[in-house]
Amino acid sequence: MRRFLIAGNWKMNTTRQSAVGLAGELAAVAAGTEAGVEILVAPPYPYLIPVAEKLNGSAVQLGAQDVYFEAPGAFTGEVAVEMLADCGCGYVILGHSERRHVMGETDEIVNRKTRAAISGGLRVVLCVGELLSERQAGQTEEVLDRQMQGGLAGVSETDAVELVIAYEPVWAIGTGVTATPEQAESAHEHLRNWLATRYTPAFSQKVRILYGGSVKADNAESLLSQTNVDGALVGGASLKSSTFVPIIEAARKLRTTV
Ligand code: PEP
Repeated sequence: MRRFLIAGNWKMNTTRQSAVGLAGELAAVAAGTEAGVEILVAPPYPYLIPVAEKLNGSAVQLGAQDVYFEAPGAFTGEVAVEMLADCGCGYVILGHSERRHVMGETDEIVNRKTRAAISGGLRVVLCVGELLSERQAGQTEEVLDRQMQGGLAGVSETDAVELVIAYEPVWAIGTGVTATPEQAESAHEHLRNWLATRYTPAFSQKVRILYGGSVKADNAESLLSQTNVDGALVGGASLKSSTFVPIIEAARKLRTTV
């Protein structure tokens, strides 16, 4: 059985004080987490080090929200893979819809970042997902295929051993509209089949596919109950332990009742 991953993407939110406070609360919660549930937080870059210090010794994993693909050098404003590793990050979120649709990242850029992160030893959470117009036009699977193909070009099965995919329909991110469990399962099953064809069926069964898009305490259990949903990437509800912890609890309950 795949281990759930419940990941909090803090985006451009929190202060140093609130970030460290939230990390401390989650570290305490994680102490009681079953082996079947992994917790990850991705704070803004400036708070990685104080959050890492707070999480030190806890079961909560640290990740970044992006990275640049070049080695350290003359790239003003960018952050290199080895810098994230040096700050204690084990994960990096790549291809988030805000990076793609606000910052204009292409599949090629996402791919360069993915390959750089993997070769630098970071575990990648690769985000894919369709726009509302694409879903309405019946293009969801075509969009997912294109983003998977582009993002994972040149990434071998050995390279992808720690890969995590996040299916995040853009129309569900930060909108309060959530994909139904059936819509999520259909997209996740499609993504797993894509992985089976591109790599191997055995490999596809090992990859965790998270759902993201307005996950909250009241919808987490029904989404996480789906066969191919292996966790959640949570934005807004990850900013307070009072809203994030119930999502962790939903995952914990499902892993202890099966
Ligand atoms: C996200 O940022 O990846 C996300 C899913 O946000 P929210 O949970 O707020 O929809």
